[in-house]
Amino acid sequence: YPLEATRRRVPRVLSIAGSDPSGGAGIQADLKSIAAQGGYGMAAITALTAQNTQGVTGVHVPPVDFLRQQLEAIGNDIEVDAVKIGMLGDAAVIEEVRRWLGEVRPAVVVLDPVMIATSGDRLLAESAEAALRELLPLADLITPNLPELAMLLGESEAADWDTALAQGKRLAAACGNTVLVKGGHLEGPGCPDALVNTVGLLSQDVVVFPGERVDTRNSHGTGCSLSSAMATAKVRLGDWESALRVVKPWLHGALAESAVLEVGKGNGPI
Ligand code: PLP
Repeated sequence: YPLEATRRRVPRVLSIAGSDPSGGAGIQADLKSIAAQGGYGMAAITALTAQNTQGVTGVHVPPVDFLRQQLEAIGNDIEVDAVKIGMLGDAAVIEEVRRWLGEVRPAVVVLDPVMIATSGDRLLAESAEAALRELLPLADLITPNLPELAMLLGESEAADWDTALAQGKRLAAACGNTVLVKGGHLEGPGCPDALVNTVGLLSQDVVVFPGERVDTRNSHGTGCSLSSAMATAKVRLGDWESALRVVKPWLHGALAESAVLEVGKGNGPI
């Protein structure tokens, strides 16, 4: 971003999400991503995970009162321009985040409905899935991957792009907001993404952003990075289409360069 634009306004972006001590996903990825997009990042931690690039070995959800204390400490002092919500852990955490969103009503809310890590480990209690569905309408943008999109709708996972778009439309219509449909879980050389909104908030109901797939297994934290970058870029640029136009090539570059990191033996971070 040009220095002049940065001088005018630095977006203050709060991530409400889980911690990944190996630095690839969760709040650690969010803070790096927010900074890369020219924002000032904050993090209220919902859950602590023990994990590395090979998988999750433990999850600890601290007492929900302490999440409230973190959110109140931020809210009582700092104006938040955008919120990114990631791993929530359980239903009590979801309820607390819901209460706080209702009280503070942040201008921009991006919800990454994190449920299961790429390694297959659960990051949201199964019993909390209904509560997560109820949180969806409070977000402006929802960024599910294809397995999460299917789970939120109670349908089977899309195996092709047209089915994914149709599911995105159904979720957007049900929640009254914008859905970012991500092609990352499909096969093939293309890797499209699309913004979907059925109530006229975009220039068209479906805006597709074509892209090339990066052949790498170092994709740990891609979803976290994308959602927090979108929250930051939305504040900076004003609309979701302009935000994704900047964020998608940036994320592609991070994936393409991920091999230079040499972090861990599993799915390395971007
Ligand atoms: N750990 C935390 C704390 C996360 O929030 C997420 C995803 O959102 C993950 C792990 C999973 O990352 P990935 O599926 O990219 O490995």
